[in-house]
Amino acid sequence: MSDYERLRQLDSKHMIHTFLPLETRDRTIFVKGKGCNLWDVAGREYLDMTGGLWLAQIGHGRPEMAEAAAKQMSTLEYATAFWEFSNDKAIALAAKLATLSPTGLDVVYFTSGGSESNDAAIKTARLFHAHRGEPERTWILSRNDAYHGLAYGGGTATGFDGLKAGVGPGIGHVHHLTPPKPFQTWRYNGQSTTDFCIAELEATIARIGSKNIAAMIGEPVMGVGGMVIPPDDYWPRVAQVLRKNGILLILDEVVTAFGRIGSWFGADKYNVKPDILVTAKGISSGYIPLGAVLMTREIADAVCEGHGFPVGYTYSGHPVACAIALENLRILEEERLVERANVMGQYFSDGLQRIKDLPSVGEIRHAGLGIAIELVADKKTGQPLPDNVIPDVIKRESGVIVRMANENVLVMSPPLVITESEADRAIEAVSSVLERVRADGS
Ligand code: PLP
Repeated sequence: MSDYERLRQLDSKHMIHTFLPLETRDRTIFVKGKGCNLWDVAGREYLDMTGGLWLAQIGHGRPEMAEAAAKQMSTLEYATAFWEFSNDKAIALAAKLATLSPTGLDVVYFTSGGSESNDAAIKTARLFHAHRGEPERTWILSRNDAYHGLAYGGGTATGFDGLKAGVGPGIGHVHHLTPPKPFQTWRYNGQSTTDFCIAELEATIARIGSKNIAAMIGEPVMGVGGMVIPPDDYWPRVAQVLRKNGILLILDEVVTAFGRIGSWFGADKYNVKPDILVTAKGISSGYIPLGAVLMTREIADAVCEGHGFPVGYTYSGHPVACAIALENLRILEEERLVERANVMGQYFSDGLQRIKDLPSVGEIRHAGLGIAIELVADKKTGQPLPDNVIPDVIKRESGVIVRMANENVLVMSPPLVITESEADRAIEAVSSVLERVRADGS
């Protein structure tokens, strides 16, 4: 029996995979990574155009990261951040994040990932109002097609009904608004995307009552929702309405921070000041699980009043995770990878122009190295192409790994270290398959 077959059988027998029906036979079983490449157990090489799950900013298999981890593990492998206990690496990372993040977000709470961070952020927003004498401010505004993880708080804010079916009630008081998808013009009743979304936001606030709303949560650019790039005026206008009504803005930057969209934070790119900023993924380039919730001093002061912050995770401020994140940030800065994301994003965009007139290609867009090809069944109306197997065909034919977001948006989010020749290979692999796609997605 081959190594692949042995592992495949054990995997089928003992492991559950997110979004994979149990009866699915095939697995792609990775054993090694370097730069933008991954290798499976049979020795086949792949080009990782998803950057893991939108996170491998500095590329796979970097020895500096292994050294940082080994050094920290042999010095201090764990320390709690409950009560008065702290550690030098967590402190250094908190201070570094305060210098990199948008002005005013000076205080951080560490978590182990995006879902935990969103749960902490929602609690933080509600706590803030409760401590300030407005405990009835509990509603959270989110958006359809948003992805804020699959835990209970962020999972309720996630805007895909299918992901919530059968698990009973989520957290209370969450309302979903229309997302800003300029390409899908039919959503907006003839108005501009931003005008429609702002009118809906204002009407919703009037209906629920501003005095009952704690926060709005949103990704600056929706990732899982289909690389949704909002019009430039969307976030500043949303923030203005929220501020006027005393509602906090939580930006979920789990995907967008640390260079993915060509800026350190989406807040910088879209010229908006959040009260709370959630991040994970690119903070450690995936070398270790880590998340962070950044907030203003004013919010931190309020939520830590009395008995202190009532949110806690065993691994908050984990010294190894924080040492790895510090090394990751050093590499991002030293190799100027945030700037590189813009250069290479444009390179992709130029290279993909050859397929822009195909009947199935509705729009090609990118923000930094978040690249999207919106696939349509009808180019005139922009109606989405039905569910399809395009990523499987691309992987089988060329070893290039891409994925579909929201069923009809082909997304690439490669490591920011990607070279031009690797980009050429991906462009060729994707284009040659899309050139053969029929209107029914087959
Ligand atoms: N928020 C956003 C915007 C995400 O894209 C994700 C994951 O993809 C999450 C939150 C959840 O993060 P995690 O899977 O680390 O819990």
